[in-house]
Amino acid sequence: MREQLIRETPAKVYLVLFSLSFLLNIFFFYQHFFSRHLSLRIGSTVSDLSWTRHAAEEAEAVAAISCSSHGRAYVDGVLDNGQPTCQCNTCYTGTDCSVLLSNCSADVESGDPLFLEPYWMQHAAKGAVVLSGWHRMSYATTDGFKSLELEENIRRLHTAVGNAITHGKHLVFGTGSTQLLNALVYALSPENSSSPASVVATIPYYSMYKGQTELFNGRDYEWEGATAKWRNSNKTNFIEFVTSPNNPDCLLYDSVLGGSSVIYDHAYFWPHFTAIPEPADGDVMIFTVSKLSGHAGSRFGWAFIKDENVYNKVSNYLYYNSIGSSQDTQSRLLNYVKVILAEIDSNSDIFEFGFNKLRKRWQRLQALVNSSSRFSLQQLSPQYCIYFKKIRDPSPAYAWLKCENEEDADCAEVLMKGGIISRCGTKFGASTQYTRLSLLMTDDHFEMLLQKLKPLVACSDENSSEISSF
Ligand code: PMP
Repeated sequence: MREQLIRETPAKVYLVLFSLSFLLNIFFFYQHFFSRHLSLRIGSTVSDLSWTRHAAEEAEAVAAISCSSHGRAYVDGVLDNGQPTCQCNTCYTGTDCSVLLSNCSADVESGDPLFLEPYWMQHAAKGAVVLSGWHRMSYATTDGFKSLELEENIRRLHTAVGNAITHGKHLVFGTGSTQLLNALVYALSPENSSSPASVVATIPYYSMYKGQTELFNGRDYEWEGATAKWRNSNKTNFIEFVTSPNNPDCLLYDSVLGGSSVIYDHAYFWPHFTAIPEPADGDVMIFTVSKLSGHAGSRFGWAFIKDENVYNKVSNYLYYNSIGSSQDTQSRLLNYVKVILAEIDSNSDIFEFGFNKLRKRWQRLQALVNSSSRFSLQQLSPQYCIYFKKIRDPSPAYAWLKCENEEDADCAEVLMKGGIISRCGTKFGASTQYTRLSLLMTDDHFEMLLQKLKPLVACSDENSSEISSF
């Protein structure tokens, strides 16, 4: 019995070892030939990465640099001893941006949409885009200079949000919507007419319309100022900019001159800034990613154009002006538009995020300003929004501030003396009694604004005790 056991044991051991070795071979064979393909299909794991690994590690390392929530480091930022450094928000300094500068002005002049930066930080994985060194080197992409996939997703986004009817309209891409402003003025101007088209807008208007029209100084169009001047005239040859919601007062506007060529600038017609009462359906409508996702630096805007002739002229302009818009930008934006679409109605809805942030800022600013009579703000009311399917509070991109006292004739100057850099009303064709405060920037900018505004508001009358709680 014992001898039989001794004889059988090595045989069993060999059998087990052989089976194990067989199984291991199958495992390695599978890993080598199949697992790579599978992981490429369903998303590679870090250990599978080869040429993206360095870039991915660099991006994560830079993003992990602490700038005390008052700044950020960038892969292309200034280096110190070969290491990326923090770029601090205004009023903050130090290697990690932790030092608050004394006597620093609140700079709320610009419409830089940094209020959406925390959204993309919270969704870092979804926002990341990796491109190869040979990614779309050609001038051309899937539809001439336009990415068909991006076009489709932009149209889908408008349908999902309900802010524009895009069916039956051509789409053009621009290097920011800024490029499209003059492209459209050019395309809507009459050719070989005895009198040039008059380019107009309603006060207070976005200054770029006037600035561009005067700078480019085309033969077929000229800047003719405010619509109010032309209301009762017999003149017909107008190109009217209608900004809705408007920059700077954030009200929804419609054409004043009616019947003329209208360029609807809907840069802010997204649910984070305004109620969407119904989809816009203009023949010419401009949008921009700067105010949709906050990626102003990507320089990307688009326009829907109904008339084929106008579309052809705009396309021609864009060809001669820049040979289309950046392919890198289009690829990056395709991802953002897809993320925004996928998150609609979820906990990560960018419109909900943006709306909540701006509504809170507006409420706090309003409470402060209304606590005395020195300043006033534009009147905005709650309105039904087809996107949120409810009446929603105002959440404007800008405060259009008026100095109510006669002695405060230059409102921007009054604020400047109090440590607030704003954009004077005259830039919008309005009087110096008004000035614009941007509510779009970082929390640091906004908090500094309130801090500097508090004593100015209190300066006006006896209400200062109420204000101390802001
Ligand atoms: N239109 C309006 C009303 C704007 O406020 C802006 C940006 N401030 C633009 C157009 C231009 O936007 P972008 O060139 O960044 O697309």
